[in-house]
Amino acid sequence: MVEHLPLRPLWLCRRCGQPWPCGAAKLALVAEYRDNQVSLFLYMAGCMHDAIDDLHQLNPSETGSASGMFDRFLGWPARHTDSYRVTTPEAIRGEGTSS
Ligand SMILES: [Zn+2]
Repeated sequence: MVEHLPLRPLWLCRRCGQPWPCGAAKLALVAEYRDNQVSLFLYMAGCMHDAIDDLHQLNPSETGSASGMFDRFLGWPARHTDSYRVTTPEAIRGEGTSS
């Protein structure tokens, strides 16, 4: 079974052909990183960087909208990870008591 992973340098889903991350890929990423959403943001930031490089080489006009690329790669985890903001104060308190 082919997973919902990006086909570089086109950044289309290998499975369903949608611009990556497709809906299924987002669900899989949220599940995979549910305990470590900072890592999810870092991973997606890295993907965005690679995608901008790849797509710019293929077709400079594709990446004309930086905000569009930002929303595609980093906008959705911000909307899907409300729990990150909820759990952050606890994480900070946890670190404070250990020192
Ligand atoms: Zn897909």
